[in-house]
Amino acid sequence: MDRRKLAVLADAARLDAPCGGRRGAGTAGRAPLLPEDVEPTAIYESVAADGRRVPLLRLLLSNHCVHDCAYCPLRRSADPPRARLGVRDVVRLTLDWHRRGLVEGLFLSSAVDRDADHTMEQMVAVARTLRREHHFLGYVHLKVIPEASPELVREAGRWADRVSVNVELPTQRRLDVLAPGRRLATMHRAMDRLRDGIAEAHEVSRRHRAMLDPSRAWRRALPRFAPAGQVTQLVVGADDATDAELLAAADALYARQRLRRVYYGAYVPPPGAPAAVATEAPPVLRERRLYQADWLVRQYGFAVHELAPPEAPDLPLDVDPKLAWALRHPEAFPVDVNRAPRELLLRVPGFGRRTVERILAVRAWHRVRVLDLARLRVPVSRALPFIVAADHGAQALDDAGRTLRARLAARTRGAAQLELFPERGVRAA
Ligand code: SF4
Repeated sequence: MDRRKLAVLADAARLDAPCGGRRGAGTAGRAPLLPEDVEPTAIYESVAADGRRVPLLRLLLSNHCVHDCAYCPLRRSADPPRARLGVRDVVRLTLDWHRRGLVEGLFLSSAVDRDADHTMEQMVAVARTLRREHHFLGYVHLKVIPEASPELVREAGRWADRVSVNVELPTQRRLDVLAPGRRLATMHRAMDRLRDGIAEAHEVSRRHRAMLDPSRAWRRALPRFAPAGQVTQLVVGADDATDAELLAAADALYARQRLRRVYYGAYVPPPGAPAAVATEAPPVLRERRLYQADWLVRQYGFAVHELAPPEAPDLPLDVDPKLAWALRHPEAFPVDVNRAPRELLLRVPGFGRRTVERILAVRAWHRVRVLDLARLRVPVSRALPFIVAADHGAQALDDAGRTLRARLAARTRGAAQLELFPERGVRAA
């Protein structure tokens, strides 16, 4: 394996967020422990749903691209070092590093080299060869080129655990400006096919489970289709799209495509970027606030317009979106922890979903006091201005809220200075 090619293609793959890992993380701390023949930038620590860190071989099959997306360092008109790998190269490398315990799987992406079908065929061939010829049981995440033929898109789902189509920008109007030739409708058609494939495989599996067949043989016979679902990525800060636009686009994608996740990738200005694209990267905290707001919409019942209303379409950076909403809505507080329904408790800053379930359980036995909240590890000083408990009355939210905001903003500023590489998928409670 040509080490230079591998370094070029691993470096280019860093722009892809959807393997759910940490930007700039991975092998940084472990690099000295890796064997000399291993390119450390090609190993990436993905974060599994249970929080486990999963090392993956992450690379592009090729960084030659026929498109000219203004925000991308691989665009046709740019001049980065170019490289491409063959199917056999990637298969051999994956098997070798997997056998040596260096990685648990493969995240394979690619620029559009020659044309969509040619690129997709090569990527599918990698996954097919791994599964069919080598009976590879490790994790495989394939990026899907939306312009590829429907047969190839479906075959990607057949061999991969997870698939992703990167939407990148929230509207067709924005794509027309920064990514000419990319069609949102085409992306949606590819995602529709993947969504339907996942749903069909799920339905077949459900029906077999219902038959209560205790043998494992039927499981092997079941059609397999991206069991870890599909995800996408939106680029943050490449143009003047507001957080409200990004979150609304994500919300629509979750609803239509039943995505597992939308990843927000902070824009990094490429060298010699065209005038149409932003010249500076967005603030580090913006990506984090978007993940928090996304989580609140999916898990806490907030609507996008509540967190990013028309009069303030960008999320504040100094405090998290839930606290910002609470401070904008003093009429919703205080919430009585001994009487309020679950939906209102979920809106209290500092109360996570598990905390709310525990409060509901505790109050079935006795009236909840501040000490009970402390025992439940609630960040009490954050929650107190917004609640009434058995031993705590209502506070004037204006004063308490202002003090809290100033204190948290100071803490956020300190954290932002330390936090060069924020963890993805950070939740707001
Ligand atoms: S399609 Fe656009 S974003 Fe993707 S690699 Fe090519 S230029 Fe970059």
